[in-house]
Amino acid sequence: MGSVLQALIKLQSVENRLRAAKAKLARCRRNVIIQENQIRTLQNALEAKKEEIQLTTIQSDRLELELKTRDVDIAKLRASLNTARTNKEYAAVLTQLNTTRADNSKIESQILELMKDIEVDNAEIQKIQQQIDEQKGKLEQIRKESEQLATKYEAETDQIQSEWDEAAAHVPTEQLEIFKRVADTYDGEAVAIIEQNQGRTGAYTCGGCFMGVTNECVNQLMTKDDIIRCANCTRILVLGSSQE
Ligand SMILES: [Zn+2]
Repeated sequence: MGSVLQALIKLQSVENRLRAAKAKLARCRRNVIIQENQIRTLQNALEAKKEEIQLTTIQSDRLELELKTRDVDIAKLRASLNTARTNKEYAAVLTQLNTTRADNSKIESQILELMKDIEVDNAEIQKIQQQIDEQKGKLEQIRKESEQLATKYEAETDQIQSEWDEAAAHVPTEQLEIFKRVADTYDGEAVAIIEQNQGRTGAYTCGGCFMGVTNECVNQLMTKDDIIRCANCTRILVLGSSQE
């Protein structure tokens, strides 16, 4: 293979290292985002609990108000008990009084239940707040670590990028454009080595997609210094070191 194909092979190896370095950089920044999301989830849970308490309080206030109105009713009923003129009237007022009392005690226990709910929610809020504080401390740690790592990985990436530019300078413009396009399609894997199947002479496959490659392609690669692309996956085909 000629110098263009050799330059593409060299560029591919730098491309692999460049992609790996960029991925490392992205991963270390992602850790911060993951941690921030965790804190946000906890904060949402905290807000939801606070809202729940608000609703429960409104409900309990309403019941308290109802209870007060009913207490007034009870006082009135008691008064009319004293002024009842007949036994029948007395009995009727007494029944009403007892019913109202029974209803009131039901309302009282409802209020107590709501108070208990609020207590439970408040305990929950404290727990979540504690988790948030812990996670925030962790976030600071992760941020510091990832900033340090990012600086290191950025320097690595810059270094490999200049090696890439240097390697790319040896590839003619047209071929370089093809390389970049295919690399974008296959996550950096633009060049595929042709593999020769063991024991079967003339049976060649593309190392990228494992589909067959014609003998003509292999012959062209041996004689010409230009890009031949896999008919199936369009990767740039090159010969393995044993085939040259
Ligand atoms: Zn292929």
